[in-house]
Amino acid sequence: MTATQPGVSTALVYDESLGAYDLDPAHPLRPERVSLTIDLIRAYGLLANGALELVAPRPASSAELLMAHDARYIETVIEASAAPGWWRPRRGIGPGDTPEFAGMHDAAALVAGATTVAAEYVCDGRSRRAFSPAGGLHHAHRDRAAGFCVYNDVAVAIAAMLHRDPDLRILYLDIDAHHGDGVQEAFYEEPRVLTISLHEDGRYLYPGTGSARERGAGAGLGSAINLPMPPYATDECYRLAFERVVAPAARESRPDVIVTQNGADAHWSDPLTTLGQTIAGYEWLFARSVELAEEVCDGRLVACGGGGYAWATVVPRVWTLLASALAGVTLPDELPAEWRERVRALGYEPPASLRGDDGPAHTHAQRTSVLEATGRVIDEVVRSRSL
Ligand SMILES: [Zn+2]
Repeated sequence: MTATQPGVSTALVYDESLGAYDLDPAHPLRPERVSLTIDLIRAYGLLANGALELVAPRPASSAELLMAHDARYIETVIEASAAPGWWRPRRGIGPGDTPEFAGMHDAAALVAGATTVAAEYVCDGRSRRAFSPAGGLHHAHRDRAAGFCVYNDVAVAIAAMLHRDPDLRILYLDIDAHHGDGVQEAFYEEPRVLTISLHEDGRYLYPGTGSARERGAGAGLGSAINLPMPPYATDECYRLAFERVVAPAARESRPDVIVTQNGADAHWSDPLTTLGQTIAGYEWLFARSVELAEEVCDGRLVACGGGGYAWATVVPRVWTLLASALAGVTLPDELPAEWRERVRALGYEPPASLRGDDGPAHTHAQRTSVLEATGRVIDEVVRSRSL
């Protein structure tokens, strides 16, 4: 781990070629969730004023992909990339969640490389914090695609960091609405990587895993923490989970770097999930993640994007707030007119403001009920960790 130079800005790893990760024009995982985020970051002036430094991605090498994936699976992805439409579905690639497309291997390797570059920037001390908005493809497994994810960029980047520095300790925090199953699986027996996932309870949402009883195995027993949130869980539920579980676990595990997956699909309006977070709730979580990194690992933080299916109106605002938290600046609420026009041109009514949010239509009784349910899950996790 190299000491960080003072004054180095936050790295934003992105270029337009990452838009090639497009499973199908009708697929819900839209590359525009990322490009509209970059547009909003740019429209707010965060690139021109040096708050963020734009860094180009590179494809992950075969050696890097092999740190998180089987050679035969990588060969399968390469074959699928060359035969769209003629593909015999296997290893999770085919009609449904993760359809094959021309150039799939190259596009997925570039996402994996982008997150790996973000990790390199932070580990080399070139920037204290880095953001890979196209990354966060947390469902891909060692030997198969799953849940819109071909290569697991997060697992690749974490494995590459450990390869470079075997003494490193890493905390992975995943707040996507879906369980971070692929990343958990990759490091389930690895004591150097603590994975924490806050997700909608697997009894109600894909991928079905992530119960509080999944705690790691072998030498890694205790190095996985799962907080299955009840459907409709509010900002208050997330705050309670962060303060009672995430922050204490981070202090206890003493990581050298924190890696976060910041899926914006836990927003109450997301069409694929049933949680109750607001834009303000996300902003609070981002501020606390930055503070926690300052407290436990000298600020080193590698942030990724993830899911998010209200891709035109919600995801870009959530991830722009993430970028501003990483850059240490507070943005005005008024959205730049040029960005609002771009959203309108795509056929969507642009949001009124950066943080404007009706929030979920919960009654007081419902708020109390989900908070109590979250408290019970937290109690179970806290009890199991102190055994
Ligand atoms: Zn998700």
